[in-house]
Amino acid sequence: MYRRANMVSEKGKRRIYSSKYALSSIVYCSKCGDIYRRIAWNNRGKKYTVWRCCTRVTHGPDACHARTIKEEDLQEAVVEAINQLISESSELKEIIKENIEKAITGDGSRQIEEIDKEMLEVQEELLKVANAKKDYTELADRVEELRNEKENILLEMAEEKNEQSRLKELEEFLESQQLEIDSYDEELVRKLIDEIVVYDEKLKVVFKSGIEIDINK
Ligand SMILES: [Zn+2]
Repeated sequence: MYRRANMVSEKGKRRIYSSKYALSSIVYCSKCGDIYRRIAWNNRGKKYTVWRCCTRVTHGPDACHARTIKEEDLQEAVVEAINQLISESSELKEIIKENIEKAITGDGSRQIEEIDKEMLEVQEELLKVANAKKDYTELADRVEELRNEKENILLEMAEEKNEQSRLKELEEFLESQQLEIDSYDEELVRKLIDEIVVYDEKLKVVFKSGIEIDINK
């Protein structure tokens, strides 16, 4: 778990949604990868809510035989996972701090400076060569190369920053949360959880910070 504290979620894609249920579109099927959908069941006058794999709902058990999970169990698993996170928080905070520091000491901006400097030199050289009506293809290629390099570094820096702010958010939550939570909370789910994967015997809760906790449910 700690080893994964600095990892980004495996599923790069994230669906943008505005649902009244925080769990909508973050619960995935481990068998077919589809999302789980909330369904209200009415069985002989007895009403309850379950979550089911969309593939299974649409195409039947031959297409996917993932299990149905009661909303109650899903919410309990979320509460348990968050509480595990809170109970481990002092060790976790150390790890988070280390990760944030690591990200801060990255040398992206120094690399950018060097690239800018070389870019300027190459462009000046290119102008001279071009004015002398000589072949400047190589210099033009180098400019293009430098431009790509710079773009990649900027992208990396943006990702790092993004990860950093997610870790910061988790750190703040752990700081503010002294006691364990005793009930399911939609807002906390939106704030902390990236995705939940449903397996036959467990639920894998993946936090936005990259931490994963398995709950047997
Ligand atoms: Zn499925």
